[in-house]
Amino acid sequence: MSVARKRVLVSGAAGFLGSHMCDRLLAEGAEVIALDNFITGHRRNLAHLDGNPHFRFIEHDITMPIDPGPVDYVMNMASPASPKDYLEFPIETLDVGSLGTRNMLEIAAKYGAKFLTTSTSESYGDPTVHPQVETYWGNVNPVGPRSCYDESKRFSEAITMAYHRSRGVKTSIARIFNTYGPRMKLSDGRVVPAFIDQALQGKPITLFGDGSQTRSFCYVSDLVDGLYRLLLSDEVYPVNLGNPNEITIRQFAEVITRLTATAGAITYEPLPEDDPKQRQPDITKARRQLGWEPKVDLNTGLLETIRYFQALQDSRP
Ligand code: UDP
Repeated sequence: MSVARKRVLVSGAAGFLGSHMCDRLLAEGAEVIALDNFITGHRRNLAHLDGNPHFRFIEHDITMPIDPGPVDYVMNMASPASPKDYLEFPIETLDVGSLGTRNMLEIAAKYGAKFLTTSTSESYGDPTVHPQVETYWGNVNPVGPRSCYDESKRFSEAITMAYHRSRGVKTSIARIFNTYGPRMKLSDGRVVPAFIDQALQGKPITLFGDGSQTRSFCYVSDLVDGLYRLLLSDEVYPVNLGNPNEITIRQFAEVITRLTATAGAITYEPLPEDDPKQRQPDITKARRQLGWEPKVDLNTGLLETIRYFQALQDSRP
């Protein structure tokens, strides 16, 4: 199975993950219709596709209905995704996960398209089960500052299952863990661009809390490959996609210092409210159902990412 000559609708196409997904779909021979309202995405991420006859971009906010015409696949990837962004746009984040997901599901229902939504490890909140397995229901504070994102994504999973059960739409749900790579925004506040930007500018690294909290970082090409396999699969229930290689944020700061050959000064800042203490995907299901696992190690992926940010900084006015 492949998407060759199929029409694929991608929401959030100008985002970090969305734009890489468009590249992969085009490489597989698809016709891509791309949507974004640029709330957090950037035109720069799609500039290389200008003039590509297999690619059509429509500037559109998916919380408003749209009919793109017949499509074979819908990839719902639109949402602010960094804590800084969704804290700045909490209502827009709730709207895109609810109204936006519903509008994309309506398109899939109308045209009999396969639908994939990109959910998140934040569905597990601050997890009490470690590593996180898909059958764990999570530990989310429904009224905390992160709830706009966590509950939006949990709602998007619920409405996806409702369309599957009541309208017979073919659906899949990806729970994406921390992912990094070129095209992340330097200023989006997430730990990967933040630490690299600080190191490259010779500023101290901002470590939140004591740095003992953990994350597991997946390189973007691995993640996109997992999404592509899930799109073509029959798996309905959520599938974790991420790299199980877990490290503390303090260790991560040391890795960035080493790879950028910088001094490694650190300033301590308070841990954000409800910041998950540990996170590691259990990817047994993805291995079994999709034959997928990450291939790019942290050093290799980070060197690519550092090169990208270095070039961005060099082009700063
Ligand atoms: N973090 C940090 N310094 C920063 C940005 C983030 O110490 O400048 C920490 C943050 O508190 C969290 C981890 O790095 O524990 C990952 O944060 P990020 O915003 O990248 O994503 P999250 O996994 O929390 O959604």
